[in-house]
Amino acid sequence: MMEKLEMLKKYGWIMDALSKLPLSEKTRLVSNFLHAKKKYMPEREGNANVDYILKCGLCPNMCRFDCPVLQVIKTETVSPAVKSRLAYHLETGMLPPSEDLVKAIYDCCNCGSCQPWCPFDFIVGDLLKGVREDIAEMGKVPGHLLKFKELIEREHTIYEGGRKSLGRESGAKEHRTNRKRFVRASTGTVFGHDVLYFAGCKVINKRPQVAHATLKLMEKAGVRCVTLPEEWCCGVPLGNIGFKEEFKKFAEHTAKAIAESGAKTVVCSCPSCAVAFKELYPGAGVKVKADVMHSAEYLLGLVKSKKLKPGKLEGLFVYHDPCKLARKLEKADEPRELLASIGKLELAEPQFSGKETHCCGRGGSYATINPGVSGKITGNRLAELMEVSERIITACPNCELAFEGAASGGNGMEVSDIAEILLKSME
Ligand code: SF4
Ligand code: SF4
Repeated sequence: MMEKLEMLKKYGWIMDALSKLPLSEKTRLVSNFLHAKKKYMPEREGNANVDYILKCGLCPNMCRFDCPVLQVIKTETVSPAVKSRLAYHLETGMLPPSEDLVKAIYDCCNCGSCQPWCPFDFIVGDLLKGVREDIAEMGKVPGHLLKFKELIEREHTIYEGGRKSLGRESGAKEHRTNRKRFVRASTGTVFGHDVLYFAGCKVINKRPQVAHATLKLMEKAGVRCVTLPEEWCCGVPLGNIGFKEEFKKFAEHTAKAIAESGAKTVVCSCPSCAVAFKELYPGAGVKVKADVMHSAEYLLGLVKSKKLKPGKLEGLFVYHDPCKLARKLEKADEPRELLASIGKLELAEPQFSGKETHCCGRGGSYATINPGVSGKITGNRLAELMEVSERIITACPNCELAFEGAASGGNGMEVSDIAEILLKSME
């Protein structure tokens, strides 16, 4: 009641103005007001949040200066608000899903650089997710992304012929049903481990040294940790390119594997896997029955509880905040705190850091969506980091692979995962 009175007070001036108009004009204005929203919304119920897309499309593009895709492509079509305008026209049927329009909707690395500048707290990449799902339902996903989807469904990882488990050389102890029974029989506990380490496709196939370091640190801390005997891709790349049902199938598979492991905590080296388990799986109606932590946060906990004693590592380093870790998981302080616990390590900040970090170019499966532009974004970010130091530390295998790939021509750069640095300081 109070709310209604407040509202009447707020809009009282409209009533005064209306009362002075002829009846026909009053009726027209009230009818327009009541039907305005309906008029501007599509009749068909799709996956996109058209209300948000319309708000973003009407914005004067306040975040455009910080969009890494726009900085490289340099055409207004891929600026944040214009992508939303195109999405709005597609959703309302005013524009057909032409090749150019679809390409613009996919030209976003879902980095979230728009968010810190946005009055609505929007991430355009998130707004476009539902639009891509609608494009997938229209059967208009670009051919190379359809092939990528088929590869993931066939291999259960993002790599052709890729591995789905860590080798013994990484120090991984697989969680197996027979081992579970053995532990139960010998110790009387239901499960003999505290943590499930989920490495992710990229660590397993391209950066196994990250898994090695993380598992070694857990062993030093006395943490009982296991890995899955067969780890499927978390499904995020399928969701990124618009395949909602396929993503859900992968989510259900991994959530079940996590539940069967009996672990109370899942530790991920890849921030995208952590975001998937914490946010995207529940969003798709799939619950993960365990606490989910990124390795930087988990390792900091081990240091704080004195289970790990960091050593010394001399030199000037720069820390690159991965978009998903700093913005989605809001973990910008934890990696810095962990690095500050290492003796003699000097940490310098790039101009854009924390929640205002810049993308490595590979976010949102963009290296597959548009490899040329993705590579140029990597080059831009590398230049920002190398202004400060050639020794880069980060906490995401995707960023590490982007920087390593860009440096393959040799530029004196050295890139390490935060777990590798911590272990190095202790050896
Ligand atoms: S994301 Fe926010 S700031 Fe950027 S164009 Fe859309 S509404 Fe404007
Ligand atoms: S999420 Fe990143 S790439 Fe996408 S529109 Fe926003 S700033 Fe640009």
